[in-house]
Amino acid sequence: MLNKFENKNVDPNKLANQWLSKASVKPTKQRVKIAEYLVGNGKHKHITAEQLFDLCRAGDINVSLATVYNTLHCFCSAGLLSEVIVDANRKFFCTRVDDHPHFFWEDTGELTDAKIDNFQIKNLPQAPKGSKISKVDIIIRLSKEIE
Ligand SMILES: [Zn+2]
Repeated sequence: MLNKFENKNVDPNKLANQWLSKASVKPTKQRVKIAEYLVGNGKHKHITAEQLFDLCRAGDINVSLATVYNTLHCFCSAGLLSEVIVDANRKFFCTRVDDHPHFFWEDTGELTDAKIDNFQIKNLPQAPKGSKISKVDIIIRLSKEIE
């Protein structure tokens, strides 16, 4: 029996091209390939540049880590991805660009969306004079419960 989320009609190349075109990002061969790893299965993804680089190399896409970084930053600037900084050594890229909280799983180093209905951020502190709040990141750190 087919998993209800399985969709045999998903075309990674088509999804990647549509995703790039909605932000008017020029679909170079490398960008399309990288976009296929990000949105090619039609699901949201959280990934680090290093993880994406490893996927590219495993998939025989000849890119440097610097190119992967540049491409991810280009996608962020275009509004296609959001950056989630977990700590000084760990930055994820999320394919969801609306405000949403994240779970960081300390045991596995994974980042996932924290599902919540009607998510709202209320009663934020006043921004200091001459500044404004540009973004609020919520990362909820999870560890295994000790039984
Ligand atoms: Zn996310």
